[in-house]
Amino acid sequence: MKTHSHRLLTAMAAVLATGMLLSVSACGTASNTQSQNTAKPEATGPIEVVASVNQWGSLAKQIGGDDVSVTSILSSTAVDAHDFEPKTSDIAKLQKAQIVVTNGAGYDAWATKSLGRNAVSVSAAQTVGAMEGDNPHLWFSKDARNGVAEELTEAFSKVLPSKKKAFATRLAAWKKQEKTIEQAMDDFSAKHKDAKYGATEAVAYYLMSDMGFEDATPKGYAQSSASEGEPAPADLQEFQALIESRDIDVLINNTQEASDATNMLTGTAGRSDVPVFDISEQLPDDQSSLTDWIADLVSKLTDVIDEASAAEDDTDADTQNDTTSETQSDGSDGTAGDSSDTQTQDDSAATTQDSSPDGEQPDPGK
Ligand SMILES: [Zn+2]
Repeated sequence: MKTHSHRLLTAMAAVLATGMLLSVSACGTASNTQSQNTAKPEATGPIEVVASVNQWGSLAKQIGGDDVSVTSILSSTAVDAHDFEPKTSDIAKLQKAQIVVTNGAGYDAWATKSLGRNAVSVSAAQTVGAMEGDNPHLWFSKDARNGVAEELTEAFSKVLPSKKKAFATRLAAWKKQEKTIEQAMDDFSAKHKDAKYGATEAVAYYLMSDMGFEDATPKGYAQSSASEGEPAPADLQEFQALIESRDIDVLINNTQEASDATNMLTGTAGRSDVPVFDISEQLPDDQSSLTDWIADLVSKLTDVIDEASAAEDDTDADTQNDTTSETQSDGSDGTAGDSSDTQTQDDSAATTQDSSPDGEQPDPGK
């Protein structure tokens, strides 16, 4: 009896256990097939990319093309980028992304500290070794752009190996465009050996440095601006005096960091005939890509400086020859062949420069 009922119980237990095992393994198989099913479409893309700011989001799209779906969290040129606070839904997007692209160097700490556990992260600051406290406006640096483009290509290829070739092809095309910009910047710095600028905020620091400009912004002012403090009256006066003396060729004005102080400075520049050049932090709406934007800025800055120096030549000519300068300035522009090229075709700078293998040595004889 005892053994019989024991056997029965054992048998029942075995059946139960088998049943449980069966259902467990059924579940297991089901979920296995499910995850295999969901894994397949993931492997053919598009990769879900979330960028903290649209400058880097744009570059991710340039390299990723149709094989990526890019969401940029901070895209507005109408907010103070340094004070940006993400919504809960923004953080959720960051955490769900397959690849997160951040600027780093303290610019978007809200994003760098919200990375999902499994996300692949591409950080502009990491590619160039920039730390918190360094100038964080890295998208304006040719080194950072190149570093991020390569890093993105690698990350995309890892997540979507079947499209490795496509990513490499897009990287090569991108590098060609970037080289054209670098050539334009080199041409500029070769022609303008002692170009100087001041800045209401150091947004374009790397761009100006890549173009060979010297930063003449008074130190005291620059420090208070970098720490987002009010400039001391003495620092502001020093900057105004610098502008009035026209010891800078251009005043860079960050349109996303406007204040009473910056308005005062642009006002002083206006009265002193120092050109004011507006630059935003985020990629503006009317620019189709980070590359086009940088090319456009380089071309427009070149025009601003060329026009200002042409006007100065006029003034010199005026004082020497005592003639009205309209016709004279035309004549002197004509002799400088390449400067008239950039001036007549300023709107299509990127395409113009693309088709200029001969433009690399515009006039070796002169
Ligand atoms: Zn800034």
